[in-house]
Amino acid sequence: MPGRPAAQRIVVVGASLAGLWGAATLRKEGFDGVLTIIGDENDPPYDRPPLTKQVLTGWVAPDHTVLPHLEPLGDTRWLLGTPAAQLDRRAGEVVLADGTRVPYDLVLIATGVRNRPWPASDQAALSGVCGVRTREDAARLIDHLDAGVSRVVVIGAGFTGSEVASACRHRGIDVTVVEQAQAPLTGALGGVIGDVAANLHDANGVDLRCGVTVQALEGSGGTFRAAALSDGTTVDADVAVVALGGVRNTEWLADSGLASGPLGVAADAGCRAVAVNGLVTDDVFVAGDVARFAHPLFDYQFLTLEHWENAAVGAQVAARNMICAPEDRRPHACVPTFWSTQFGVNIKSVGVPSLADQIVVTQGSTEAGSFAAAYGDRDGRIVGAVTFDHGRWIDHYRGLIEQAAALPGPYDADLPDKREPARFPPHPAASYHGPTVVVTGHSPTAMDAVRQPAGRSAP
Ligand SMILES: Cc1cc2nc3c(=O)[nH]c(=O)nc-3n(C[C@H](O)[C@H](O)[C@H](O)COP(=O)(O)OP(=O)(O)OC[C@H]3O[C@@H](n4cnc5c(N)ncnc54)[C@H](O)[C@@H]3O)c2cc1C
Repeated sequence: MPGRPAAQRIVVVGASLAGLWGAATLRKEGFDGVLTIIGDENDPPYDRPPLTKQVLTGWVAPDHTVLPHLEPLGDTRWLLGTPAAQLDRRAGEVVLADGTRVPYDLVLIATGVRNRPWPASDQAALSGVCGVRTREDAARLIDHLDAGVSRVVVIGAGFTGSEVASACRHRGIDVTVVEQAQAPLTGALGGVIGDVAANLHDANGVDLRCGVTVQALEGSGGTFRAAALSDGTTVDADVAVVALGGVRNTEWLADSGLASGPLGVAADAGCRAVAVNGLVTDDVFVAGDVARFAHPLFDYQFLTLEHWENAAVGAQVAARNMICAPEDRRPHACVPTFWSTQFGVNIKSVGVPSLADQIVVTQGSTEAGSFAAAYGDRDGRIVGAVTFDHGRWIDHYRGLIEQAAALPGPYDADLPDKREPARFPPHPAASYHGPTVVVTGHSPTAMDAVRQPAGRSAP
C-alpha cells in the first residue's frame, strides 16, 4: 500500500482508547515518522468500562485498568497532563494550554466525552457528590463506599447509573435510583426493554423512582445529605452519583473552522473531519466518542456512539485512511456493538436500536429476563437487536443488520409474533446549542459557509 510521503508528523489528540488504537494502527500500517500523543489526563491510556463494573465491586483496583499496547509504538512522544487548547489549521499546529505549539501534517482528534456535570456548582461541590468517568472518579467513589454508607442515590438510570446501582447492591449498600424517563435504559433501548430493566432493578432491591427528577442536592457542613425530588419527596443518602450522560470535548476546536460543537465533530464515513462549510478536510481525522460520522448503513445519518468497540474500530479505520493512498480508503461501516453487565445479567446490543420504531421479542422470555429482541425501522428493516443473557446470538443479528434484512419474527415457536412500538423518547430538540453558520458571497464560485461570529445577530 503506497504511503503518503507528505505525512512526516502525525499528532493524536486524546490519549485514551481511540487515541491509543489510532496510534497503534499508524505504526502497524507502517508510519515511521514523528508521532505525538497529547492527553489532558496524567495517566497513560486506561480502560473505562471496568470502572463501573469490576473496579466498583472491588475485584480490580482502579490503577489496574491500563490499556495494553497492541503494537510497539516505537519512538512516540507522549505529552500528558496538559490539554490541547486550539487547533490552528492555518499554521498546521496543535496549541496546548501552556502555549506549546505542536506542528502536524495530519492530526487525529480523539478527545471523547466528559461527564455532564450537576448543574448547580455549589451542590456539585458537596463532599459525597460523585461521577464515574475517570480512574480518579472511581477511586473517590470507592473511598466513600468503603467508609460505610447507609444509602447511595444515583441520578440517571442509563447504563452508567444502572451499573453503579448494581455495584452498590453487590456491596450490600441500599440504593435509590432516580430517572426522569418512565424506566431505566429507555434512551438507548426504548420503553419495552426499559420495563425489563426496571424489573431487574426491583428484583435486586433497588428503590427505583421513575418519572421524577432530582431538583436539588442538599448538604450540611459541606457534605451531601439528601436529594430533593420533583414529586416533593426527599431521599436521605450519604453519596449521590451523578450519571447524566456525557458532554463532547469539542470546545478546544471552536476556532478551528471545523463543523464541531455539542453534537461532536462531524466526519465523513472515512473519518475525515468536515469543515464548517460542509467540505471534508484531508488532514484532520476524527474517531471515538467525539466523532459524529455518516454511516452508510443507516441512510448516511451522522451517528455519535459512546461505545468501546466504535472507538477502537473507528480509530483503526481513521488511522489507516490517514496514511494510505486515497483510493484505498475505507468507510467506518462497522455495525455498532455495546455491552453492559448489571445485576449479574449480560446485556449486549448491536446496531442502532434508537433508530427503530418497532420491536419484536425473537427468543427466550422477557419475564425470565433471558431473551433476544430485534428492532425494526418504519420500512420493516432490522436496525438493531438486544440480548439479555443471550449474547451468543448477537453475531447472528449483526449479520442480519449488515445485510439490511427484514425484521425477523420470533425464532422460538412458543413466542407470539408480536411487533410493538419500541417506545423511544422523542429527541430533545432544545438541547442543541451549536454554532450558527451563515452563507456568504453571491456568485456560485465565490459562495462559502462560515461560522457566524459570536454575538452577531441575524439582519
Ligand atoms: C464508566 C464507563 C463505563 C463504560 N462501559 C462501557 C461498556 O460496558 N461497554 C461499552 O461499549 N462502552 C462503555 N463505555 C464507553 C467507552 O469507555 C468509550 O466509548 C470509550 O472510552 C471511548 O474512547 P475515546 O478514546 O473515544 O474517548 P475517551 O475514553 O473519553 O477519551 C478521550 C480522552 O481525551 C482527553 N481529552 C479531552 N479533551 C482533551 C483536550 N482538549 N486535550 C487533550 N486531551 C483531551 C480526555 O481526558 C480523555 O482522556 C464506558 C464508559 C465509561 C466512562
